[in-house]
Amino acid sequence: MLGHIAWIRPELFRCERMAGVSVPAMITYVGLLTQVDGSGYVKDRAAVFNAVLWPGRGHTVEEMEEELEQLTTAGLLCRFGALRGYLHIVDHAVQRRGHRHASRKLPSCPTHHRALTLPRQPAGSQRP
Ligand SMILES: [Zn+2]
Repeated sequence: MLGHIAWIRPELFRCERMAGVSVPAMITYVGLLTQVDGSGYVKDRAAVFNAVLWPGRGHTVEEMEEELEQLTTAGLLCRFGALRGYLHIVDHAVQRRGHRHASRKLPSCPTHHRALTLPRQPAGSQRP
């Protein structure tokens, strides 16, 4: 998990949902933007995020978990999958407006990207 250059929209700092989280949670959110793939997805690994985003600061995995929960409660992040295996930035497409949608290797969130995960209609059950 090396990270990459991330775009930050000016609206992020005026966002009401962001105003409701702690400053460390906001830093974690900005850090996560450097860790997600082109669609805003990443494997949900609090210990790894903590090591990569908060090195040498005595920031604990428990604090990271608490910040991820704050961001999730605020509707900025979505954690999903069996045992919360994945995480994505809510509205990532809006954040990256104007950029091409990259292909994703991780599974789609069933809540926010339902259209991408609808099962195919079995043969013989087509709608009229
Ligand atoms: Zn979601």
